[in-house]
Amino acid sequence: MRTSWGSATDSGRVRSLNEDAVLAYPPVFLVADGMGGHKAGDVASRLVVEEFTRLAGRDAVTADDVHDCFGRAARRLREELEGITAGTTVAGVAVARHDDGGSYWLVFNIGDSRVYRLVGEALEQISVDHSVVQELLDRGAISPDQARQHPERHVITRALGTDTEPEPDYWMIPAGATDRVLICSDGLTAELDDATIAALLGGDPDPQEAAAHLVATAVGAGGKDNVSAIVVDVATTARAFGTAPDEDTAETWDSKLEDTTRPRTVRPQRPVEPGQPGGAR
Ligand code: MN
Repeated sequence: MRTSWGSATDSGRVRSLNEDAVLAYPPVFLVADGMGGHKAGDVASRLVVEEFTRLAGRDAVTADDVHDCFGRAARRLREELEGITAGTTVAGVAVARHDDGGSYWLVFNIGDSRVYRLVGEALEQISVDHSVVQELLDRGAISPDQARQHPERHVITRALGTDTEPEPDYWMIPAGATDRVLICSDGLTAELDDATIAALLGGDPDPQEAAAHLVATAVGAGGKDNVSAIVVDVATTARAFGTAPDEDTAETWDSKLEDTTRPRTVRPQRPVEPGQPGGAR
C-alpha cells in the first residue's frame, strides 16, 4: 500500500521548547508528546522517534514489530534519563498486512495524543485517550463539553515513562481507498473542536498543506502547548487487493471488508515482559 503524507509541528505561542516529535516515514507515522521539561521531555519524544525509525522503509509491519519498538524505547528512556521523571505520549499508525491479503492500519496509542480517520466528511477518533477526563467520560460522569473545560483535562493516566513498562493499546482497521488519517498531539485538539478539525482535514487535497494548515490554525487559536499533526493518505490500494482502484471495484472492497469496518483491538502475539501487569487492552 502506497501512502502520501505531510507533517507539521510548532512550539506554539507560550512554550519556548518543542517537546513534541514526529516521525513520518512509511510504513510508520507517529506523534510523541514529551513531558518532563528541558533535557527530559524532548529527549523522551526523540528517543521514541529514533527507535521507530528502525521500521522505516519496510513494506509493512506487525504488531510485534511495533511492540518491540515500544520496549526498546522504554529501555533507552530508563538508561538515558536515569533518576529523572520523564515520559512521552506515543500515538500513530503503521501499515500492516493481514492474513486476508488486505492492507490495514495498525493504530497504536499510549497517552492523549490521538489518531483520527476522516470518512467522507465525518471525523472518527480511533485511539482512546489514557486520561482522567476519558475515564470520567467512560463512566458517564461528565459530558464531552465538560471534558473540554475540565481542570484535569491535561492529566494522563498512561505514558511511555522512565518508571513503568509500556502498555500501548492497538487496533487494526482496514485501509480504505479514500482514507485520510490524522495523528496529532493534544496541543491541536485542545485548541480546535472536531468540526474545525474535520473541515481543515478535508479542506485540502495535499496532505502537507492540510497538516500545515491544521497546526497554524491551532497556534493562531491560542497555541498554549506544542502543536503537531501528521496527515496520511492512501495513495492507491491497487497493490493491496490486486485490483485497479476504479469505481467498479469500490463495492468489492466494501463487501470484502464488511465485517472489519469497525476498529478491533489486537494483541501482539508475544506478551509484554513477565512480571509486569497489563499489556495491550
Ligand atoms: Mn502536549
